[in-house]
Amino acid sequence: MATIDLHFHSNASDGGLAPGAVIARAHERGATLVALTDHDCTAGLAEAAATAASLGVGFVPGVEISVTWNQRHTLHIVGLGIDPAHPALVAGLKSIRDGRIERARAMSASLEAVGIRGAFEGAMALCDNPEMIGRTHFARFLVQAGHVRDVKAVFRKYLTGNKPGYVPHQWAGLAEAVGWIRAAGGIAVIAHPGRYDMGRTLIERLIFDFKDAGGEAIEVVSGSHSLDDMHRFALIADRYGLLASAGSDFHAPGEGGRDVGSTTDLPPVCVPVWTRLQPLAAA
Ligand code: AMP
Ligand code: MN
Ligand code: MN
Ligand code: MN
Repeated sequence: MATIDLHFHSNASDGGLAPGAVIARAHERGATLVALTDHDCTAGLAEAAATAASLGVGFVPGVEISVTWNQRHTLHIVGLGIDPAHPALVAGLKSIRDGRIERARAMSASLEAVGIRGAFEGAMALCDNPEMIGRTHFARFLVQAGHVRDVKAVFRKYLTGNKPGYVPHQWAGLAEAVGWIRAAGGIAVIAHPGRYDMGRTLIERLIFDFKDAGGEAIEVVSGSHSLDDMHRFALIADRYGLLASAGSDFHAPGEGGRDVGSTTDLPPVCVPVWTRLQPLAAA
């Protein structure tokens, strides 16, 4: 197991732990190099960096940007080694966050149509950063209110596809998101490619567009990848000359998925993205 984790969340977006707490948990579990990558938001990075420095954990400032590609595919692009104060990145991320409250009201109305009341208020009560209200907060509300057994099961019945609570949304463009990451000095990474409902041809088109925009890496190891996904994307990374990344995509204790702080070793064919990262110095 590698003691590296370059993708996880805090309560600055839809994680369950504060930035310092999630870094401390990664450290307790043996992590030596980590990146906090909250959705569309860098508000947790200062606290996370301070905790990482005090514990002697290598820290890389990150973000996970929501993207709409090819009109209809929602993708996530991770940025690693970003300067969170860069004006283009700051303005870009704010423009994505701005639509979330309105979307949440529409999600709530859609749930109300199937008899689920109070979802907006319920989800907001579970969200520590209101401008980052999202589907995970709604999922937690649906569990707490007794509508569904657990968060994973929520996404089988609600909040996706044509199911109640799903509201299509226009996120950033792919070239835009990669451009903000590069402007801010970061490396752009295609997050959890195994999760996208795309065959080989579409994945290839995505990689061409991504590289065209200046993207350089892809997650090979991810909490949401099977071993088959890992091997498939290791070969794809090699074939297309992409660096390989590894992250747990941890959100909260007890919500399933991989815990924070360590990841499976990359297959030997991979060139690790961390060969190109300069972690902030530990105190
Ligand atoms: P949003 O950015 O508001 O659309 O929320 C997306 C988030 O919902 C993801 O980052 C995950 O945390 C969560 N999510 C989406 N699909 C699933 C799923 N099938 N299982 C568990 N969590 C999911
Ligand atoms: Mn999430
Ligand atoms: Mn994601
Ligand atoms: Mn994530």
